[in-house]
Amino acid sequence: MAQADNNNAAASATSFETARVGCGPRFDSAMTPLVEPLSPGLYIVATPIGNLADLSPRAADILSRADAVAVEDTRVTAGLLRHIGVKRPMIPYHDHNAEGMRPGLIARMATEAVALVSDAGTPLISDPGYKLVRDARAAGHAVVTIPGPCAAIAALTLAALPTDRFLFLGFLPSKQHARAEAIAEVAAVRATLVLYESGPRLSACLSALAEGLGDREAAVAREITKKFEEAVTGRLSTLAARYADAPPKGEIVVVVAPPEPPAPASADDGDAALVEALTRLPAAKAAGEVARALGLDRKALYARALELKGER
Ligand code: SAM
Repeated sequence: MAQADNNNAAASATSFETARVGCGPRFDSAMTPLVEPLSPGLYIVATPIGNLADLSPRAADILSRADAVAVEDTRVTAGLLRHIGVKRPMIPYHDHNAEGMRPGLIARMATEAVALVSDAGTPLISDPGYKLVRDARAAGHAVVTIPGPCAAIAALTLAALPTDRFLFLGFLPSKQHARAEAIAEVAAVRATLVLYESGPRLSACLSALAEGLGDREAAVAREITKKFEEAVTGRLSTLAARYADAPPKGEIVVVVAPPEPPAPASADDGDAALVEALTRLPAAKAAGEVARALGLDRKALYARALELKGER
């Protein structure tokens, strides 16, 4: 199947990788393929975010058997393919050519296995791919995922912050006003926040987060899975000061703690709310409403509601 690629319109793109050393199906003496061909469709393949040993055996297998690999940067993926000792046809697919390349890729999936990789990590996560998946599904092609490294998830495992609910923000806008607006939008969200940032912008971003969210606990995870991997934790303002004069090198994920839960309501809060609720509702309903709103004990509120109404 791979041999047919050269006739395809998408394959004629100027930067199409035509080298074929070591690729294509291999056969035994009875001409039985030694390796099962992959079924046609789209294969979303996660690749390492630094340490090449993190490429899963399944990801390597899919990449070595795909008829073509859609890539962000042919030089980056060529290095990865070299690492696993295969050469596959590569088709550039990135933010600047995606609209033009997508129809050709979708057409190929009818008869070929097309793998999608990004430069690092999981495709579609702050990387191209979602429209390719959408159109592949709409065309009735199989879509298969080969999960693996993702900087956001890896950073969550290092940050020592709650992971039961998290919100991934990707890259915040770089302009100050737009960034402040984006931060304000999520200030009340009861979840750990995860975002990607660059070294030069890190300190300003941390200051903006402190201003918009309050001085929460946070972590800066840097160069994950690489030689200089580190995770520095502290309050947002402390981290902003730390990086103000020395912007860190390398790739960065910022993780921010959720907002503190509100202070528990007091009996006085309960009384005030109950008095108001009793002007509209019977005692049982008023107690139920206030209990739900303030997290107070419903039975105690009911007893107090009867007292307030002079029924006890
Ligand atoms: N799709 C990728 C993923 O699954 O993580 C993310 C791609 S996004 C264009 C690249 C950003 O991810 C970097 O700017 C950085 O914020 C973060 N990142 C990627 N690799 C990283 C690493 N090894 N350590 C820390 N952050 C990393």
